[in-house]
Amino acid sequence: MQSEIILNQFYTEEQSMVRDTARRLSDSLLAPAAAAIDRDNTFPREIYLSLAEQGLFGVALPEEAGGVGMDAMTACIVMEELARGSGAVGNAFAIPVEAALFLYHHGTAEHHKLIPGVLDGSVIPATAVTEPDCGSDVAAIKTTARREGDEFIITGTKAWVTFGQVADVIMVFAKTDAEAGHRGISCILVETDRPGVIKGKSEELLGMHGLAECVVSFDSVRVPVGNLIGPENGAFHMAMENFNFSRLMMSSMALGMAQAAMEDAIAYAHDRKQFGKPIYDFQAIQFMVADMSRDIAAARLLIHHAARLYDARQPIALEAAQAKLFTTDMAQVHISNALQIHGGNGYSRAFRVERLFRDVRLSQIYEGTNQIQRMIIARQVEKMYT
Ligand SMILES: Cc1cc2nc3c(=O)[nH]c(=O)nc-3n(C[C@H](O)[C@H](O)[C@H](O)COP(=O)(O)OP(=O)(O)OC[C@H]3O[C@@H](n4cnc5c(N)ncnc54)[C@H](O)[C@@H]3O)c2cc1C
Repeated sequence: MQSEIILNQFYTEEQSMVRDTARRLSDSLLAPAAAAIDRDNTFPREIYLSLAEQGLFGVALPEEAGGVGMDAMTACIVMEELARGSGAVGNAFAIPVEAALFLYHHGTAEHHKLIPGVLDGSVIPATAVTEPDCGSDVAAIKTTARREGDEFIITGTKAWVTFGQVADVIMVFAKTDAEAGHRGISCILVETDRPGVIKGKSEELLGMHGLAECVVSFDSVRVPVGNLIGPENGAFHMAMENFNFSRLMMSSMALGMAQAAMEDAIAYAHDRKQFGKPIYDFQAIQFMVADMSRDIAAARLLIHHAARLYDARQPIALEAAQAKLFTTDMAQVHISNALQIHGGNGYSRAFRVERLFRDVRLSQIYEGTNQIQRMIIARQVEKMYT
């Protein structure tokens, strides 16, 4: 791709090497397995461990913490490549990358001891913020963590926990001060083998199969106070800060899926003949592809711009929200157009674009819905221009 070629000139040698590793893995392992992961809806543990073996979970983590010592920009490049092969595996990749960074930035020396396990895939992490009655309004969560001596007692139910069925540890966001709104939330690490942790029902999802999502309930689960990550009552801001990075991950994931759909659409439009010629010869098809190419290139630039700012330790609430909103919306539209270019075949599971169409839809919903992204953008630009 021309846009890729231009951007590649700005990659460091190390970034190009990591990208090549991710692309090789994606083409040889992820893409061939993607249809089976979707069909069987089982957690792809072997593939997860292969990513760990390649050191990819530590891509954005400093070397002193056991990581590869690269940056958010490289994590975005890797994510795009992985999601190009399998959106679900791309999604799975984000979880340990984000968890290791979260533990590193906010955890104590004791919490840091978990990082090697997260990086080698032997400790599977999950994050539980959302509840059955509370998603976008994080400050309204009802799960409580009551202090009793040197323990917290956690009670409540979390919904939609990605990796919930397979997680060894869950970072649970709970109210430690029920009266204090967003200033009363803490993050507490809960080992899932503790009495009272109940892994519940998994939903039948439209797409992104294989991620072991489920409800997790906490029935008076006792954990030592040492399991508190970050300051007591200070987790809301930690979560919001974390969203900046995770939104770049989700944007890159949607970007990789859009890239895959465009590649498929171009190939299909050359193979498929109607009215005596390849359908690519029809301007209607070419214009759909032209718009895909334009928006994919623009999304890549938005993401990489935000990632570079993040790596330069600049605030990116605006840029991360813009990248997430633009990329996930454009990916949904263009993957739908790629499906259209496949005609009836696009509606069949025999073609990858059908899965991409289902998988990408989630990216507009989680890590803050796209309505929430618009609210963030509107607030940020209001601050800039009033
Ligand atoms: C497959 C899957 C995996 C997930 N994984 C995780 C996970 O690992 N951990 C976790 O904690 N959560 C996870 N989530 C939850 C996800 O983050 C939430 O679904 C998301 O934040 C939206 O919350 P909600 O579903 O409660 O929707 P709601 O907040 O109820 O929103 C419903 C609708 O109202 C809109 N809306 C809400 N408030 C406003 C407003 N102020 N202005 C305008 N519109 C508004 C929303 O944009 C949306 O369109 C996952 C969800 C799914 C589907």
